[in-house]
Amino acid sequence: MNLHFPALLLSLLPLAAAEFPKAPPLLPPDTRYKADLLLIVAHPDDDVVIGGYLARASLDEHKRIAVIYCTTGDGGGNSVGFEAGRSLGEMRTIEARRALGSLGIENVWFLDGHDTPGQDVLWSLDNWNHGGALDRIVRLVRLTRPEVILTWLPDYVVGENHDDHQGAGVLATEAFDAAGDPTRFPEQVAPPRNRQGMMNMTEGLHPWQPQKIYYFTDAFEDFGPYWHDVQERSPFRKNIAEDAGPTYSQTDISPLRKTSYAKLTAEYQTFYLTQEGYLGTGAIKKNDFQDFEYPTRFIFGKSVVGGSTTGDIFENVRPDDACAFAPVTGYRVSKTDELTFELGEPWAFYRAFWKAHGIEHISSLLPVPEAAIRFGNTLHIPLTIRNGTTAARDVTLTFQLPAGWSNKTRFAVYPVRAGEAYPVQAEIAGPQTGERGWQQLTFQGEVDGRRIGTVELRVYVSNSGALPQ
Ligand SMILES: [Zn+2]
Repeated sequence: MNLHFPALLLSLLPLAAAEFPKAPPLLPPDTRYKADLLLIVAHPDDDVVIGGYLARASLDEHKRIAVIYCTTGDGGGNSVGFEAGRSLGEMRTIEARRALGSLGIENVWFLDGHDTPGQDVLWSLDNWNHGGALDRIVRLVRLTRPEVILTWLPDYVVGENHDDHQGAGVLATEAFDAAGDPTRFPEQVAPPRNRQGMMNMTEGLHPWQPQKIYYFTDAFEDFGPYWHDVQERSPFRKNIAEDAGPTYSQTDISPLRKTSYAKLTAEYQTFYLTQEGYLGTGAIKKNDFQDFEYPTRFIFGKSVVGGSTTGDIFENVRPDDACAFAPVTGYRVSKTDELTFELGEPWAFYRAFWKAHGIEHISSLLPVPEAAIRFGNTLHIPLTIRNGTTAARDVTLTFQLPAGWSNKTRFAVYPVRAGEAYPVQAEIAGPQTGERGWQQLTFQGEVDGRRIGTVELRVYVSNSGALPQ
């Protein structure tokens, strides 16, 4: 045995360490920004709709919540002052920070989208620079690493149905499916060359696959305070969110605050004074929170960790678990060699969008598409004729309208060449007056007396300013 060997080895060690210096361990993502739940909405005050749940999750379940607003709310009205436009937006961002701060929520971001009046989601996505907004939301998903995303329902539903709300829901769904994919916005997940140096052009984030996404809507009849004209609240229709996801009672008592979530929602709303804060202050003054006792309902979107449709939002959720990327099928061409006739954008977009993102069950919430109109106004209905055949065809459109309605569409016959999709804007004048309620409109496309498709649309006719036209 060579007794000198261990001594020789020891004498070599310092030399080895000097020759092969060990790098420090990687720095983990900054835990101050980790969220359990990320809320993605359009306007400062959209959060009031689920204010009771936010209070429950933040105060009583100790969930870390982060929030993204796609706009500053610069297009809204001002209930208490003369400030409008961008100035109002500056104020509403502070209202939101104060409201969320009252629940202990501090990680809040505002994108630079502007308010888009209307109901067509494609208008909002265009107005917001869709790609740029998605870039920012994906970045914030990767930064906050939420297990759950909550957002507005991406669907055209009569009620409040703001196109910006729908736009937030579309972007949130896209971000849910993109943030775990390192080939989407790869500059965000490429490491910086030198994190302590300046002008790093890549961002050092990690891909992140959220586990669940849920939607909510304010287009339902028992959503008390938001129906300005109480007369319009009934009859409407079954709440589309009923049994479509978890429900949380507003009359439950918050163990921390020792008061009902309804009252906490009213208090929460008072921060949004430029908006409908008066509903909150009024309820507090009267000590009557009935208008805030509507249950908070969510619509199950999808989950990559299983769980039931109506189970708790955090059912099956694995805390702090970096889930494997769960790719969706994406858009698939469904070619037909037929002539077809269907409702155009934005409904056509949604049909393809739900399928592409694995949330096709959203289509069953409203089996017959719907729209709303005030008495005396005109409805613009987008229709699409597709010719999948190899020959040009003349397609005749016929409309079946209820009494009091009239067709103002300029043309009735459309020449559609092989392979073309012809967009038609039907113009239908609604009745001048009558009973408010739902009416059914039917549109048919025919070629040589043969029907190629039927489009049905339910239209809610009323005098209400609360309902869009
Ligand atoms: Zn809104």
